[in-house]
Amino acid sequence: MKYLDKTIQELHALLVKKEVTPYDLVCEAIQRAKEDKNNAFETIVEEEAIAYAKSLKEPEEDNLFWGIPYVAKDNFSTKGILTTGSSDILKDYVPVFDATVIEKLKAKKAVLIGKTTLDELAMGGTGTSGHKGKTFNPYDPTHTYMIGGSSCGSAASVAAGIVPFALGSDTGDSIRKPASYAGLVGMKPTWGRISRYGLFPFAPSMDHVGYFTRSIFDACSALEVLEGYDPKDMTSSKKETKNYRKALSTDLKNIKIAVIKEILESVEDQKILDDFAKTRNYLESCGAEFQEISVDKSLLTAIFGTYFVLSCSEATSNNANLDGIKFGLRIGGEKTYQEVMMNARTKGFGEFIKRRFVIGSYSLFKENQDELFLLAQKARRIIVNKINEILKEYHAIYSPCVGRIRNPFDSQEDRLSDNYLIAENHLALANFAGLPSLSLPIGTDDGFPFDANLTGRAFDEQTIFNIGWCIEKYTGLENLSVERRVK
Ligand code: GLN
Repeated sequence: MKYLDKTIQELHALLVKKEVTPYDLVCEAIQRAKEDKNNAFETIVEEEAIAYAKSLKEPEEDNLFWGIPYVAKDNFSTKGILTTGSSDILKDYVPVFDATVIEKLKAKKAVLIGKTTLDELAMGGTGTSGHKGKTFNPYDPTHTYMIGGSSCGSAASVAAGIVPFALGSDTGDSIRKPASYAGLVGMKPTWGRISRYGLFPFAPSMDHVGYFTRSIFDACSALEVLEGYDPKDMTSSKKETKNYRKALSTDLKNIKIAVIKEILESVEDQKILDDFAKTRNYLESCGAEFQEISVDKSLLTAIFGTYFVLSCSEATSNNANLDGIKFGLRIGGEKTYQEVMMNARTKGFGEFIKRRFVIGSYSLFKENQDELFLLAQKARRIIVNKINEILKEYHAIYSPCVGRIRNPFDSQEDRLSDNYLIAENHLALANFAGLPSLSLPIGTDDGFPFDANLTGRAFDEQTIFNIGWCIEKYTGLENLSVERRVK
């Protein structure tokens, strides 16, 4: 009997009825993780997970995460468990503390079965730059098309039916874009909703903790567990937390949704546009009011450059502690601090992130700041003002997640095309403004799923969950995994 292609909600029902035990689920998850062909894992946490699962005897009816196996991206600190960030510079790093989200899941008695691959230190979108090489898309046994990154291993393990839930992080789109290539629900809530204590920082003004599930209901459950003020993270919010599941509703009366015309116009695959239009019609029938609005294209094409300058600058400063002394690889034989640092960083970092550090340092040089870092900050402000202005009038912005359903590893796409600059990069808007943003499947093409995205008002996760719930009911694309792929 196979269980792990079920949602958390379904597994919970079986656990409560004692039709299955946490031990059964964890053994199955570990077995499947060991058989994984997609390079999704940095570490499989076998012994601890099995021993812990064995100790879980009495099901907790009100606790949906009781005995549920899950995985975490390998940039979350896990006490006593190797945490590499998929980088050679941290290849032997074993943290002495747990990230707050790991602690919260432990408190709910969820069982961590593995740490997943990522683009090195979360800086990437292709799932190819971690020290373990490429992570593959479980939907594509030919290994031609990417799962996307940087949360590639987390997306791949949920899509492959290894676990029903995975932690990820999202600075530009690192959960919501792989969610599209993997046909999953990918959620990053409002900046501050979930504590980031113990998440390796990449660009903290845009970093968010988020996660993958296979249904909107599970996504609501997960936020209820993960959110909340944390004294260990001064950027975490004291806003009251909610019962999102209880408030789920398909009544969209008085809900106004904006569609940005320029994003639709930059999407290349017609199938995305067709299925997007169908879901839009359905949402209208649920009472939502739609408006197609226009945003100055120069703002939309500026997202990528703005993101790159800001994220690389923040990354340069935040990764300065990986110097071979405070943290990181120690080669040995050096005579000075500078030599230790040079050696550690030269050998420890991969080519792609070295390039990002060069861009970041260059943007931060005093003589370049006006022209690069400060200019990018101004551009971000103008873009954020525009988005906030839209969200004053509308409850959410609805858009396709990607411009192309499938993206090959060897893509030669023109990086100045609208498809690339707008359709493939607009999800960063929600990071610029710290807004809640949810991706969920709306269609499939030749067996490959793809998502649309809902970005909402700050701290109003409920509305995007509700809209998403309607979409899910319409498409029936709940609980997709490779074994349940829709042809
Ligand atoms: N693709 C983006 C990048 O390469 C997003 C990364 C992220 O969200 N962590 O930086």
